[in-house]
Amino acid sequence: MFLAGKRALVTGSTSGIGLAIARALHAEGAEVLLNGFGDADEIAHLGEELDARYFPANLLDPAEIAGMMEAAGPVDILVNNAGMQHVAPVEDFPPEKWDAIIALNLTAVFHTTRLAVPAMKARGWGRIINTASAHSKTASPFKSAYVAAKHGLDGFTKAIALELAESGVTANCISPGYVWTPLVEGQIPDTMQARGLSREQVINDVLLAKQPTKRFVQPAEVGALAVFLCREEAGNVTGANWSVDGGWTAE
Ligand code: NAD
Repeated sequence: MFLAGKRALVTGSTSGIGLAIARALHAEGAEVLLNGFGDADEIAHLGEELDARYFPANLLDPAEIAGMMEAAGPVDILVNNAGMQHVAPVEDFPPEKWDAIIALNLTAVFHTTRLAVPAMKARGWGRIINTASAHSKTASPFKSAYVAAKHGLDGFTKAIALELAESGVTANCISPGYVWTPLVEGQIPDTMQARGLSREQVINDVLLAKQPTKRFVQPAEVGALAVFLCREEAGNVTGANWSVDGGWTAE
């Protein structure tokens, strides 16, 4: 329980990877703050399971982010995890989808970070963990907004790691390959359409074809890495981009 006494805000923690990170941090004693959308009853159950406060802020709106950060109070661990995807050829890519993907996957991280950093610096300890993606290091067709946002997130993380290097605050990216979550399931129909493939072909020939291990990453595997980054022994690990992608970006 080495995180007892630490407060961790995990954005997009009502589902998928964020929920697994929240569970992993809670298991080490952190006070977890939840954020994201979903069924009210399910979120209430999660709140009970994790003894967690819940913030419904829509991270597309900087004013809602500011309200959440104010109500949350000082956080020791900030996990910027909320994200969204849209799959379409660039000439058909809806401009409003582009704006939303950049706003959620990149700009929201700037806002939560700028608001969390002063208290971390004042305490001389902090952990900023950004869920990036293999797509922060490499590209796939039809995901222009997502690839741009995640590459941007990698650069942003490196910049703030340097800014905070002497303050006891670290900043790192975790970059999963394909993790079986609603985000991945949701892009299968559009990928079927964009590439003219069946569901099984998308899963095996597009998704798992990228991962030499030929299996989806488990959300708990990402949670375990987030826990490691919070350890004292990880105090010199900053500005890094950690792949959990079954070897995808090694190729
Ligand atoms: P998910 O769809 O299961 O979860 C996304 C979370 O973000 C949910 O809690 C959702 O409610 C929340 N969210 C969505 N829009 C929001 C908004 N406007 N404001 C606040 N919260 C919002 O997806 P996931 O697969 O768990 O993805 C989590 C992160 O991991 C994302 O940043 C994603 O890009 C990244 N990622 C996922 C995979 C994968 O294969 N699933 C791979 C690499 C990176």
